Amino acid sequence: MVHERKVYKVLVVVDVQNDFITGTLAVPHAARAVEKIVELLKTDPFPYDRIYLSQDQHPPQTKHFDKWPVHCVAGTWGADFPPELSQALVRHGLKVHYVRKGNRKDEDGYSAAFGMTGLEAGEEVQLWEDMRLTCYNLCHEVSGFEVDVVGLATDFCVLETAIDLRTTLKTDYTEPILLPEDFETTVQILPDLVAGIDPKKSEAVITLFGKKS
Ligand SMILES: [Zn+2]
Repeated sequence: MVHERKVYKVLVVVDVQNDFITGTLAVPHAARAVEKIVELLKTDPFPYDRIYLSQDQHPPQTKHFDKWPVHCVAGTWGADFPPELSQALVRHGLKVHYVRKGNRKDEDGYSAAFGMTGLEAGEEVQLWEDMRLTCYNLCHEVSGFEVDVVGLATDFCVLETAIDLRTTLKTDYTEPILLPEDFETTVQILPDLVAGIDPKKSEAVITLFGKKS
């Protein structure tokens, strides 16, 4: 009997935080995207095996605020997730892997791939390392990894996250964790579940990274 290996599905929710929806750095049409994300999170049965939730967590003063209005300062309302997101997450009972980014004074922290996430043991690693380790642990049980990226904003954090995950999940990206050559990873953006700042750039991002339905 042929043993069919399934694809492991990962959802990365980027920066669905109050300041990006209705706060100091509100992204146009963010509410619509968030509504769709919440809908997806409520899907039963839930189609994903693993969820990462990234969170911009800036210090009160950072060089990042030379370029942007003050937003998502750690511990403030603006950095919180909207209640509808938190409520949807509680429903399906899956463990959520939180990813903290942008918390140093000298970084922009656009890419969730390089944000920090907790391991079971309590130590933190970067998201891409955590994902790669998961690939390694499962590579004989599953045929590949399918990563869907959603959230805010299409042309900054979502874009950077998708680019970096595509690079870091490649089989030949780094030693010492080697993945089987036939282990396939795909990283795609779900076009209806993102919202962008610059419409032209956001459209280009979707053309390059958008999941074709
Ligand atoms: Zn930021």
